[in-house]
Amino acid sequence: MSDILQVKLNNGVVMPQLGLGVLKMSDGDDVRKAVICALREGYRSIDTAKAYGNETGVGQAIKDSGIPRKEIFLTTKLWNRDQGYESTLQAFQQSLERLDSEYVDLYLIHWPGKDNYKNSWRAMEKLYNDGLIRAIGVSNFQAHHLDDLLGSSTVVPVVNQIELHPYLTQEELRSYCSSHDIRVEAWSPLGQGALLQDQTLQGLAKKHQRSVAQIILRWDIQNGVIAIPKSANPERIRENMSLCDFSIDAEDMKSIDNLDRNQRTGPDPDVFF
Ligand code: NAD
Repeated sequence: MSDILQVKLNNGVVMPQLGLGVLKMSDGDDVRKAVICALREGYRSIDTAKAYGNETGVGQAIKDSGIPRKEIFLTTKLWNRDQGYESTLQAFQQSLERLDSEYVDLYLIHWPGKDNYKNSWRAMEKLYNDGLIRAIGVSNFQAHHLDDLLGSSTVVPVVNQIELHPYLTQEELRSYCSSHDIRVEAWSPLGQGALLQDQTLQGLAKKHQRSVAQIILRWDIQNGVIAIPKSANPERIRENMSLCDFSIDAEDMKSIDNLDRNQRTGPDPDVFF
């Protein structure tokens, strides 16, 4: 089993720094097999969402794994059309039922949307205070969304899950989050696979005798970023978790930083409603 790197969130809850993302895995056997494989390989964090349509399979896999629920860090997300106070309470309850769990470790607002995230956040604060969620956070929030939210909330989000990889290093937003004790979590850490062809990264992979995916994920780990690469392939699941037996020196870290092109693979949060 691989070592599990962990980070402490601003409310004291400990979260694995590497987890399995399950976007585009169909509910049922596909997601069940991948999650069980990851848990066997030592993963203890799974990132799903209502919008992925596979919460039921994730919950089933956790049960079938035989690993005690409390040893697994489970994240799910509030979908855009469920934003609002009452609808958030309702959507959360439905997620719990699909996940077949009494609680969620981390619940995120999936996208800021236009103007309803403060009402959604109030509902999430209630669920948090009621003990149904161990930590609450946001996803795809820009600094201006966070400024606005922090101005009217009592709980500071523990994480902001954003698109982040060597072509979109998000330095400004990372530094904003760090100054507010909000941990950054990288979605599409491998740029959905596109980064694996990058020549600089391939050169570093050769130098370190590791795969390009491992170089990128190690860069995240050394930056204090949480990463949730997606794979359904047992070898890649294992590979993505094997990050503790090498390190990247400052010069090579810098050359990865320098690949930034401010290039998104997903939507711009300011215009995705
Ligand atoms: P990713 O960057 O994790 O890339 C996944 C692709 O890379 C897949 O095609 C996979 O087969 C391939 N891959 C994985 N490991 C590999 C390896 N070792 N070698 C070669 N190829 C490998 O992309 P993603 O799935 O978009 O993002 C990861 C997770 O982030 C998602 O599953 C989801 O949980 C989360 N996510 C969140 C949001 C959000 O809005 N909050 C948006 C997108 C994704």
